[in-house]
Amino acid sequence: ETEISSNFIQTFIAEDIAPGGRFEGKKVHTRFPPEPNGYLHIGHAKAICIDFGMAEKFGGICNLRMDDTNPTKEDTEYVDAIKEDIRWLGFSWDDRFYYASDYFPQMYEMAVNLIRKGLAYVCQLTPEQMRENRGDLTHPAVSPYRDRPIEESLDLFERMRKGEFRDGEMTLRAKIDLASGNFNMRDPVIYRINHIEHHRTGSEWCIYPMYDFAHPIEDALEGITHSLCTLEFEDHRPLYEWVINHIDLPDKPRQIEFARLGINNTVMSKRKLRQLVENHYVNGWDDPRMPTLCGLRRRGYTPASIRNFCERIGVAKVNSTVEYSFLEHCLREDLNLNAQRTMAVLHPVKLVLTNYPEDQTEEFEVENNPEKPQNGTRKVSFSRTLWIEKEDFMEEPVKGYFRLFPGNEVRLKTAYVVRCTGCKKDENGNVVEVYAEYDPQTRGGNTPDGRKVKGTIHWVDAETAVDAEVRLYDSLFTVPDPEADDFLEHINPDSLKVLQNCKVEPSLVNEKVPKSFQFMRQGYFCLDYDSTPEHLIFNRSVSLKDSFKK
Ligand code: ATP
Ligand code: MG
Ligand code: MG
Repeated sequence: ETEISSNFIQTFIAEDIAPGGRFEGKKVHTRFPPEPNGYLHIGHAKAICIDFGMAEKFGGICNLRMDDTNPTKEDTEYVDAIKEDIRWLGFSWDDRFYYASDYFPQMYEMAVNLIRKGLAYVCQLTPEQMRENRGDLTHPAVSPYRDRPIEESLDLFERMRKGEFRDGEMTLRAKIDLASGNFNMRDPVIYRINHIEHHRTGSEWCIYPMYDFAHPIEDALEGITHSLCTLEFEDHRPLYEWVINHIDLPDKPRQIEFARLGINNTVMSKRKLRQLVENHYVNGWDDPRMPTLCGLRRRGYTPASIRNFCERIGVAKVNSTVEYSFLEHCLREDLNLNAQRTMAVLHPVKLVLTNYPEDQTEEFEVENNPEKPQNGTRKVSFSRTLWIEKEDFMEEPVKGYFRLFPGNEVRLKTAYVVRCTGCKKDENGNVVEVYAEYDPQTRGGNTPDGRKVKGTIHWVDAETAVDAEVRLYDSLFTVPDPEADDFLEHINPDSLKVLQNCKVEPSLVNEKVPKSFQFMRQGYFCLDYDSTPEHLIFNRSVSLKDSFKK
């Protein structure tokens, strides 16, 4: 199989609107058609970037359409969430917001017209019989109802609509080609009976159009030029075109397919994501471990990082799996440029500077973001007792350890060089305090005599530090391809670690969601929605590159 160039859709569209093309002189018009039966995920982001992005590239427009023709799992809750997520990504549909269910009356009329033209019939095969009767390539499909009189089908279809029959008792089928090599063309069902409340039309309808019939009509009614969809619809394209060619609408949209996005170490279908939520493997659709857009947002993903990711994975005609680490890479790039730097201690132990006067305090002025000097500076306080990471002290250092151990010097980031003098332990042998002496000559971290200090560690002033809860996330699954078999068997039991009593700079109390930070040497973190000034909560968005920790 060959990989088509990363912008094959762009090439097709450009040809279509060029002189002599199928849509010569027309404005490019696309749509994004989610079914409101769950929250959007990163796969949808790819489709959104393609649908809205292509329109943008050609100076065209893109509709947002709720494809709500299957009432079973649809709900208005999802409609609002979908809108929020698309807006958050930075795309706009202006006033072009539609519901497929608004077209039910027209769709019904079009179906009636097909029957009148002898192009559709009411079939009374049960679903089981239908499955058998549609045959395989060696056995042609059959339906004893195929040649029933038009009048009979018209009457039965009307009675289907009135609710005279039970679910599954009959269907409306397009009369196309029972011997077709394309299964979708073997007189596909275009309407089925479903006595169920619809989230918008209530019980007005008990028959619902099938996707393959509804979708081309929705596109044509809205004047869509290019109906961009995922690869699994490639085999449905002949049916899409059949419908387009047999309904009486002037607009004849073109369907173009692209590869679905798959990412390793996660699952992506709404059905599976719903299972994770309903079985409480995660704390809701917006759990920061979820690949949903609301989950990624809560995790600290930025719209720019996701759009950039979608741009860089490109548009191909072959399904493939993208590394989760690439998504993280795109986030890291954005946060490296934009996240506010701060110091936070996740596993605190006290460091006492025994020669620093007890009543003395001072402040250091530090840059908020060295990548962006325009983001200004802030004051960081310093005193005799500081919080440092437990792992930055070793009573007996291993080879290559350059941080605090008795006799060794390290630099306290932006403050002073200190020499470790020892520690205090509790009855169990745990280190409860580390002792050091600071060198007053090294304010700012430089050594006037030029002596080398290998290690630099972060710290937070214990006098002013604020407690925080920090949530560390790992992959939800323990295997790269959880979809290969029962994904629920590969849940990672350690995908969430909650740390309490972490120590952060007091300025963080006043910050609001959404705000990202680089906790120096630790990674990128963001405020969680549940955070309050009294109980700060941070989510780790992504770790720093491993090499940074050395
Ligand atoms: P799911 O299987 O996750 O429920 P879906 O295709 O049923 O997805 P829809 O709400 O119908 O979900 O999707 C809206 C649009 O998003 C469709 O055009 C669909 O092709 C596209 N889309 C869904 N998942 C992906 C994906 N993983 N990669 C790219 N596009 C996707
Ligand atoms: Mg769908
Ligand atoms: Mg689906």
